[in-house]
Amino acid sequence: MSRTDVLGVGFDDVTMAEAVDRALELIEARECRYVVTPNPEIVMLAKEDAALKSALAGAALVLPDGVGIVKGAAILGRPMKEKVPGIDFACGVMARLAEKGGSVYLFGAKPGVAEKAAQTLVEKYPGLAVAGTSDGYFTDDAPIIEKIRAAKPDMLLVCLGAPKQELWMAKEEGKLPVGLMCGLGGSLDVFAGTVKRAPESWQRLGLEWLYRLLKEPRRIGRMMKLPVFVAEAAGARLRGK
Ligand code: UDP
Repeated sequence: MSRTDVLGVGFDDVTMAEAVDRALELIEARECRYVVTPNPEIVMLAKEDAALKSALAGAALVLPDGVGIVKGAAILGRPMKEKVPGIDFACGVMARLAEKGGSVYLFGAKPGVAEKAAQTLVEKYPGLAVAGTSDGYFTDDAPIIEKIRAAKPDMLLVCLGAPKQELWMAKEEGKLPVGLMCGLGGSLDVFAGTVKRAPESWQRLGLEWLYRLLKEPRRIGRMMKLPVFVAEAAGARLRGK
């Protein structure tokens, strides 16, 4: 299936349900491929970072993480079905894995966070096994890779932030005894309860980004890329690209 181009990054135009089904197929195939969930900030980053751009293109699934991507695609005249937030996607896959006694490995975030997230996830998804945890602050990833190799999880959540997680997954693609890798940014902090997600009403209104900004005002520098993203999409549309 051809991808929907949003300022140089190709996205899979899938619904949440389609994305989860596809992930289950990929896990079944066990080729250790990976999923990325870029937001506008990452799309803007990829314009200046060739390695990130190629890591995104190499993913088995490229999901439109938030309302920004879907809006950008609409401005470009390429409407997409819906936003597929990475964290909701991961929950959908974990619910299905739990039904068949599958396993997940949590990699990333500050020391202690993945363990806390593990507790929440096994309570929320009875039947799901957490095959292991590792924090995301390392100088050498060899011991982590050894641990993942021994754990052989169905799904590996790689939560190191962008572009670190995308580059790490591209490096390890096809090499680990893992069903599927998934780059999920700050999701372990949310599962662990150290960071709160926007209330559902805000999410429905497409204001998750605003909630995050209000909670963490230091994100303003990163978020200033959003208006630039919208302006570039509008410019590209006007130029007929
Ligand atoms: N992180 C990490 N290793 C690093 C840098 C960041 O594990 O070297 C973690 C960080 O603790 C946080 C996540 O990566 O849990 C990135 O969170 P952020 O909210 O910046 O990601 P986003 O969801 O916005 O991509």
